[in-house]
Formats: sequence, structure tokens, C-alpha cells
Amino acid sequence: MDFKKRESRLRREKETIRKMARIFCKAHHKTKEGLCEECRALLSYAFERIDRCPYQEEKPVCSACPIHCYAPAMREKVRQVMRYAGPRMFLRHPILAVLHLLEGRTGKIGNGKA
Ligand code: SF4
Ligand SMILES: [Zn+2]
Repeated sequence: MDFKKRESRLRREKETIRKMARIFCKAHHKTKEGLCEECRALLSYAFERIDRCPYQEEKPVCSACPIHCYAPAMREKVRQVMRYAGPRMFLRHPILAVLHLLEGRTGKIGNGKA
């Protein structure tokens, strides 16, 4: 696996989650910019999970993960964010949204094919 390619995919996955959190936070917590404390904590938790992912090179996108390492409460929060922000990503960040969708279909972000 090309290390640089994997790193850029992980960075893109984080960026996608960050943008989704922003869309959700703006709508639900009325933040004018950035994230509220709760959403910041969720984002940093998600980033930490990605950094410690046991799949390493074979990491799937989290939404397609068979084990899902998130604590139940965090998983539920992330699900709410995805449910709300997912469709809106296509309007605001179409390229990221399409890439994330493709990776979700293949199940992997590190296979070099998406
Ligand atoms: S949910 Fe799955 S893919 Fe995502 S970080 Fe946890 S183990 Fe890795
Ligand atoms: Zn928020």
C-alpha cells in the first residue's frame, strides 16, 4: 500500500467528517462558525478512533465497518450527524461527498481504487 495515498485518504475522511460536523452544528446548535464544545469533542473522538483504527492499511470507511469501535453513545451521535449532514454534503462539498459515497460502496478507503 502506498503510504502517501493512504495518508491522504485518511486526511480526506477526517475532512469529510469535519465538514459534516460543521453542517450539523450550524443547524442544530446555531454556531456561527467552527463547532460547539459538544461537536468538537465528538470530532476529536472520531479522529482519535481513526488514528487508532485496528484495520490500519485495510481500514474501511467507518460507516461500513463490521466491528465499529465507537462507544455506543458516540456512535449514536455520529449517526445523527451523518444522517443530517450526509445529503447536504452533496450540495456544499460535492466532490468530497461523492468520493466518500464511492468509498462507502467499496467498503475501503485504502484500496487505491476509488
Ligand atoms: S469504526 Fe471501524 S473503521 Fe472506523 S476507526 Fe473504528 S474500527 Fe476503524
Ligand atoms: Zn455543535
